[in-house]
Amino acid sequence: MSTDATADPECIFCKIVAGEIPADIVHQSPTTIAFRDLEPQAPTHVLVIPRSHYPDAAALAQGEPETAAHLFDAAREIAGAEGLGNGYRMVLNTGADAHQTVFHAHLHVLGGRSMGWPPG
Ligand code: AMP
Repeated sequence: MSTDATADPECIFCKIVAGEIPADIVHQSPTTIAFRDLEPQAPTHVLVIPRSHYPDAAALAQGEPETAAHLFDAAREIAGAEGLGNGYRMVLNTGADAHQTVFHAHLHVLGGRSMGWPPG
């Protein structure tokens, strides 16, 4: 089991958690924080992240399974607050082939438009 959840001084999302760089924060809990994506791909595009540093969602689920569940509960709250009663998409890009670009676990919450399948 991974236990390395130390903040990474080079990690941009750790810097947001620490308040060292600004973000449009829409939700906070003792274990999670959520903020609007800088390059939104839908009318609502929020990133929900653990306060602890894990490189991806799989490592988070192994190291802090309760916090992994908190990400999904935060997404439910955010979807309610954003009026996404018609549905929303949650995305966990994991690894380079999946287009993960920030290696601090994060759950994309996208909504406010209808979406296609398969994803690109
Ligand atoms: P991924 O490609 O799944 O790793 O997603 C990383 C996301 O983080 C992208 O959608 C970026 O637009 C977003 N992003 C990167 N830096 C920031 C930032 N400082 N504030 C908000 N969103 C960011």
